[in-house]
Amino acid sequence: MKPCTSELTTRLRTAENVVAFSGAGISSESGVPTFRGTDGIWSKFKPEELANFDAFMSNPELVWEWYRHRKEIISRVQPNAAHRALARMEQIYRRFAVITQNIDNLHQRAGSRTVHELHGNIERNYCTGCGKYYSNDFILAQERAPRCPSCNSLIRPDVVWFGELLPEDAWKASVAAAETAQVFFVIGTSAVVYPAASLPSIAKRSGAYVVEINIETTEFSMKADEVLLGKAGEVLPALISQSLSHTEHERAQRYGK
Ligand SMILES: [Zn+2]
Repeated sequence: MKPCTSELTTRLRTAENVVAFSGAGISSESGVPTFRGTDGIWSKFKPEELANFDAFMSNPELVWEWYRHRKEIISRVQPNAAHRALARMEQIYRRFAVITQNIDNLHQRAGSRTVHELHGNIERNYCTGCGKYYSNDFILAQERAPRCPSCNSLIRPDVVWFGELLPEDAWKASVAAAETAQVFFVIGTSAVVYPAASLPSIAKRSGAYVVEINIETTEFSMKADEVLLGKAGEVLPALISQSLSHTEHERAQRYGK
């Protein structure tokens, strides 16, 4: 990776409030597949045909079979250097948040604590009748589509399906984070699916320095203040060592982290 600009270095050293907005690209560096097209028996289905409430209600066994398959794959992958770098930044900055479109829980597994999940989390499950949450262990122990022991309704994965609104709390927290960020990273996402795609623009309008990290340029690149091309798992650790390592100890002292 070529060194970042001195502008970014200065901003990273002086910022107190930094936000990272992540998408599928950061997960693919861990080996999380996109679940589109090439995946054995599931290649017959488009995700849109399975990841929606009507499909679930009309064929819960099929949709649950697909989610069990996805849960198993995701449970085997590990957070990568990009996830770990963001968890480290949370220790460095006074305020730091990850906003993610990913459902794989990898940010949390890497140690990030403030994570706004726009599309839910595949490791959580809840009852469509009474709303009670159920663990993955409970789900994986069932042979058929799991039902709630309290009210006998179907249990579903806590993910946002096609046609569903984003969770309001996560969305409001994400907008607030974008509005107050001094540096806003866009990582591994082409930022084209609305409403999530509006977050980088909200950040920019609110005065953030917007930095895109992707393996290739995207439609958003023209609007970014800076574009760093490369794998996030290489770019982010390099940014920390170029811009932040010597300030890390001092900041940790200042913020008592
Ligand atoms: Zn229930």
